[in-house]
Amino acid sequence: MTTVDLPLLPLGRGTDLNSERGVECPGDLPSPSDPDLVARAIAAKEALGDRVFVLGHHYQRDEVIRFADVTGDSFKLARDAAARPEAEFIVFCGVHFMAESADILTGPDQKVILPDLGAGCSMADMARLRQVEDAWEALAAAGIGDAVVPVTYMNSSADIKAFCGRNGGTVCTSSNAEVALEWAFAQKPDVAGGAKVLFLPDQHLGRNTAVLQLGLSLDDCVVWDPHRPHGGLTVEQLRDARMILWKGHCSVHGRFAPEVVDELRATIPDVNILVHPECRHEVVLKADLVGSTEFIIKTIEAAPAGSSWAIGTELNLVQRLAHAHPDKNIVFLDKTVCYCSTMNRIDLPHFVWAMESLAAGQVVNQIEVDPETEKWALVALQRMLDLPGKSHKD
Ligand code: SF4
Repeated sequence: MTTVDLPLLPLGRGTDLNSERGVECPGDLPSPSDPDLVARAIAAKEALGDRVFVLGHHYQRDEVIRFADVTGDSFKLARDAAARPEAEFIVFCGVHFMAESADILTGPDQKVILPDLGAGCSMADMARLRQVEDAWEALAAAGIGDAVVPVTYMNSSADIKAFCGRNGGTVCTSSNAEVALEWAFAQKPDVAGGAKVLFLPDQHLGRNTAVLQLGLSLDDCVVWDPHRPHGGLTVEQLRDARMILWKGHCSVHGRFAPEVVDELRATIPDVNILVHPECRHEVVLKADLVGSTEFIIKTIEAAPAGSSWAIGTELNLVQRLAHAHPDKNIVFLDKTVCYCSTMNRIDLPHFVWAMESLAAGQVVNQIEVDPETEKWALVALQRMLDLPGKSHKD
């Protein structure tokens, strides 16, 4: 059965607090040209004191991340929030699924605030629960339901994490995807032919991990397209596959192209190509180093002066790295300006509005995951935390 999904809400029209989709900002925002915005943000933060804890994702704008108490990737930030139970408000400068994860991992009395409800994630939005449930039914009908273990990337909505929790699966980050897949493939020792993985929602992270780290072939991977009947796959293709990749991708990392890698190698002597595993397989194959945002930051920090780097990740982070390391030649791995548009929705006016509202006793833009979803999402997250070995940062 194929379910017709809800249409996208145009930005600025309609409100759906459970969605990655565009939703309205109900507030009375200060003008972006107000020269006092920085002073107002400082004053609101001082007025709130220890009642507020501000988290800033690496891809946030400079004007916002300067107010963050901690910076990091999505999972590190959610854990940082959980380690501050005394903070009444967690202001999450990031995107919707990150705020959901923070709400899941923090205490019931803590309120997680997303300064602009329009800050969703196009990748997370590519796997909707109804679509995934339809695919799950189709896998069962194809006779492989008992063989499939669902694994979702951290960059997914809470209800997809809960789906994985309910169905024996787990969550992974870009740092521990290899360990998570090894765990998943080991879950069905009695199934003839071994376990299969349904990997959500980022086909590129799933493919790059399966092929480059687990040694599977590209032929072991198929792509389930939720917009085509039966995912666009035959029963035989599903039965033969080891990795069933959801047809989702990051609109930022999906832009990097192998031709640009070739051009930069031809024009910048000894350039090192450093990319995130959300990039396409053809790009990752041409890179020198592949890793999470934390890995990218540490690699640049440890790089020798005078070395040259072309980095394939979100532009705010690349620009900050270039400014922080003027002794190294750092360029962006794309010819066009390519910010994450939803990350950039958290700007200074929204931040000031959220902080001043909290200081005035008005809770705005709270992100709350319902108890049933939270329970099963926590099951999946706990399975990830119990994985052996490697870091859980993405
Ligand atoms: S960079 Fe990609 S994965 Fe991250 S929030 Fe933006 S669209 Fe989503």
